[in-house]
Amino acid sequence: MEPIVKNFFQDQFLKPGILKCHCSKCQLDILLLALNQLTPRYTSTTQGEAYIKAIYMNAQMQSDVLKELTKAVSVIEANPNH
Ligand SMILES: [Zn+2]
Repeated sequence: MEPIVKNFFQDQFLKPGILKCHCSKCQLDILLLALNQLTPRYTSTTQGEAYIKAIYMNAQMQSDVLKELTKAVSVIEANPNH
């Protein structure tokens, strides 16, 4: 899960430069928060490589990842931990 979320985060949030803060602490907090929301939802059904492939190919999963990242960004930006 983690590399996928990281990739999404870099492409959708870091590269466009829409984050209020780009420090490593905020980035890590956002990633961890999103991962905490996503991991329990998917690890029970699929595992390992099959799981990672499923996410890359599944539009619903991709939109879930984006949704949780967006939520995590607003939570962390409202309460930065740096
Ligand atoms: Zn920060």
